[in-house]
Amino acid sequence: MQKIKMDFHVHSDFSPDSPSPMIDMIKRAMEVGITDLAFTEHVDLDYDVTDPGHDWNFDQDTYFDAIRQYQNDYHEKIRLYAGVEIGMQPHLGIKNQSIVDARPFDFVIGSLHSVDGSDLYKRVYFDRHPSDRAVEHYYEQYLECISDFEGYDVLGHLDLYIRYEAKTKTVAMKSYFDVLEALLRKVIENGKGIELNAGGFRYGLGQNNPGMDIMKLYKTLGGEVLTLGSDAHTPDQLGVEYNRNIERMKSLGFKYICTFKDRKPTFHKL
Ligand SMILES: [Zn+2]
Ligand SMILES: [Zn+2]
Repeated sequence: MQKIKMDFHVHSDFSPDSPSPMIDMIKRAMEVGITDLAFTEHVDLDYDVTDPGHDWNFDQDTYFDAIRQYQNDYHEKIRLYAGVEIGMQPHLGIKNQSIVDARPFDFVIGSLHSVDGSDLYKRVYFDRHPSDRAVEHYYEQYLECISDFEGYDVLGHLDLYIRYEAKTKTVAMKSYFDVLEALLRKVIENGKGIELNAGGFRYGLGQNNPGMDIMKLYKTLGGEVLTLGSDAHTPDQLGVEYNRNIERMKSLGFKYICTFKDRKPTFHKL
């Protein structure tokens, strides 16, 4: 019997792409039985070279005040965690590290939303490369990002490119296997983890990010640190696919899921 129900990838209106007040997310989370909820608001510096000088960041004083207040108000009903989703890029290692170190975050997702200074969401990146090369280069850049940045706990939504360019879904793993394997080995070696992000279902992909083949590779390589998140930006998306994802991870042989407090994992048996 599952003792916890976690959602460790959630945005509120502290993120520019979410319209939802934190309290609405918390109330809905309690309704759907979530016991452990981490807000992971966006920090994405230099997110696109075509939009220079525009950083995604949030007022962290106000954020921590809000989290502490809700932790206090609802401590008998739900455990709330202060997280952040850091947009990594190879030139941002030092800046991102100082942001993460400046506050008592419980949990940090390291995501790659922009490759070569281009936000994947805008699709320009995919016009510049054939699909197989686009995918391979995405993992090369991820690997480069974590070569000098260890301020993350899990990598966010690996294979995110599938959300924005359908053609990448049919790229065979062998064309990017070496770099993906190197990336996952590095994550494991550094004692970090990856997340299973259910946001893909919202995008009609019919899969998590990453998909089962990548999760299986991570497990085969010895990966154990695993978090589950919905990537909810509105209350209705909280906890989506949760029970099915627990079963999927069990079927791959995962024994634990992790929550994080003060940047340290707690392993919960599946
Ligand atoms: Zn993201
Ligand atoms: Zn997110």
